[in-house]
Amino acid sequence: MELKVGICPMCGCKTEIKNVDVQEMIEDDLYIFKEIEAEVCTQCGERTYSEDEVRKIESNIL
Ligand SMILES: [Zn+2]
Repeated sequence: MELKVGICPMCGCKTEIKNVDVQEMIEDDLYIFKEIEAEVCTQCGERTYSEDEVRKIESNIL
């Protein structure tokens, strides 16, 4: 899927950069990541994380 900066991949509406808390359930453990930078769709609320942030999350889990 092609990702365009500022455009929601789900509905094509505008996104804005926000710092959000991310909750992930992984094998019955709840991980909470604070202040993760994400693009949040103003229309449907879909969140898109930058590669750096995803890497940060994964390195905390693994
Ligand atoms: Zn959207």
